Amino acid sequence: MEDIAEPRTVATMRPRSFPLPAASAARSMTPSPSGVVAYVSMEIGIDPAFPTYSGGLGILAGDTVRSAADLGVSAVAITLAHRDGYFRQTLDAEGRQSEEPDPWRPEDHLERLETVVTIELGGRLVRIGAFRYDVRGVTGAVVPIYFLDTDHPDNDDDDRTLTGRLYAGDDFHRLKQEVVLGVGGVALLDALGVEVRCWHMNEGHAALLALALLRTHTGPRGVAAATEEDFAKVRERCVFTTHTPVPAGHDRFVRDLAVSIIGPKSYDALATAGGTAEGGALDMTRIALASSRYVNGVSARHGEVSREMFPDRRIDAITNGVHAATWIAPPMAAVLDRHVEGWRRDAAHLRTVVRVPAEEIADAHTASKRILLDEVERVSGLAIDPASLVLGFARRATPYKRADMLVSDLERLRAIAGKHGPLAVVYAGKAHPADGGGKELIRRIHAASAELGAEVPVVYLPNYRFELAAKLVAGVDVWVNTPRPPLEASGTSGMKAALNGVPSLSTLDGWWIEGHVEGVTGWSVDGDGEDEAAQAASLYDKLERSILPAFRDRAAWAEIQRSSIALNGSWFNTQRMVEQYIANAWLPRISL
Ligand SMILES: *Cc1c(COP(=O)(O)O)cnc(C)c1O
Repeated sequence: MEDIAEPRTVATMRPRSFPLPAASAARSMTPSPSGVVAYVSMEIGIDPAFPTYSGGLGILAGDTVRSAADLGVSAVAITLAHRDGYFRQTLDAEGRQSEEPDPWRPEDHLERLETVVTIELGGRLVRIGAFRYDVRGVTGAVVPIYFLDTDHPDNDDDDRTLTGRLYAGDDFHRLKQEVVLGVGGVALLDALGVEVRCWHMNEGHAALLALALLRTHTGPRGVAAATEEDFAKVRERCVFTTHTPVPAGHDRFVRDLAVSIIGPKSYDALATAGGTAEGGALDMTRIALASSRYVNGVSARHGEVSREMFPDRRIDAITNGVHAATWIAPPMAAVLDRHVEGWRRDAAHLRTVVRVPAEEIADAHTASKRILLDEVERVSGLAIDPASLVLGFARRATPYKRADMLVSDLERLRAIAGKHGPLAVVYAGKAHPADGGGKELIRRIHAASAELGAEVPVVYLPNYRFELAAKLVAGVDVWVNTPRPPLEASGTSGMKAALNGVPSLSTLDGWWIEGHVEGVTGWSVDGDGEDEAAQAASLYDKLERSILPAFRDRAAWAEIQRSSIALNGSWFNTQRMVEQYIANAWLPRISL
């Protein structure tokens, strides 16, 4: 018998009430000109009420699905239900973070499928159910998301929690989660009779779907007998997007642990394919690289960095985007609805915003700023003067993102505010529970805030999430980002800001290398990435000499707001991104 985490028994009842787009009753192992794209992601943030994401990766996945639905792509998405969410962040007066579970009940929001698949995992049978959520695009096309759920009464108690909390638990738990996602995902679509033309691994977490596919090609011979031809068949069906150059973002599992969960034969097959790293650790990125016919990074620069990391691999780049209609705040959307024909169906039309009177753009932004400042006051009690230049910084709190650069020289900040003020800063962002350095950053910003007092109001809003992000990116005046190059693969919040007419001030890394036009769409933070003091000095210089003078000139500022939408909003959106995925990644093996 095979020892892998394989679909053992498949208790299938066809879900009568859920017709699947482009699903074919005929299930064939050989390519034929139909079938869907199956987009598999450990996190998908699709509805503010579902805490099924931790940050950028999940929000990007949600925006990708939304744009795929807008474009009418035959696709399905697969993720885990994450019943306990990621975590809810609270901060005390000193900025010490505490974490609480953030549970939700998928049964209260979603349709539960009758289908339950069973896989063998670490020597036990694990039943996997699923909830379906239909994402409907602008023209009515639907892309379903399947949220996998192991909270089944027949499962062992430990296994019931496998789809509980996102990015929690030890390596043992984490690898099992990835088996549920990859192997369970393949088993579910097979049980539903969904024919898949192209499997898209969104980050290495999904790589074990290749193991399940290998199994379908080796059949009774078993994966231990997999031939180069079998591996080639898997590669023909898979594409992979890598999302970070940071080593901690690439999952590895030591050999013994991996063998205990997936079994020695599967381990050996993956090792033969090139899926292991030094010391025999199972390496999810290498598995995904070895199993895909097409691989991409998420910005031009990240593509280069990824090619340096994996020199033996062809790696393309498709720069990330965001879903325009989701992230443009209502006041700006109303202006666009008046002036920009068809932008909700085709975000490329946003370039014609250059013909919209700039004052209307500026007024819409002022309305969003009011909404944000009200929210800041409601949450923190701090009333920011609406005449202030409000800087926004919100992202995962982790050392390489250097959230404290903005408050690294308080004297300088005070002097700038004294001369050109008023000036205020609004922060948000969670640190991963195990990221001590990230937590320290949040405390440091609180200390700076206390020291600056009313001279330069600095506020850190707790529990960064979808709804708060929407208010922040639309309501601040300048979106700040200071990652240490080249560690920011792309970044997407600056794109959300651009769509709302908010320029960026950022180090030249990730998407900003492509989006930056000095003084037109924002400003660069210059200097050697290793020399933090020099970069901070550049940041303060730009604030003092370029940004504040432009901000005090309403007409000049309105031009910048408008060109942010026209130049960057029209391009850095997921519609353009999905069109590039279709052309470069999905289409070669698929008819859409
Ligand atoms: C957009 C978004 C992110 C990702 O922002 P980055 O700029 O890529 O760091 C993270 N969290 C939330 C809630 C978001 O909306």
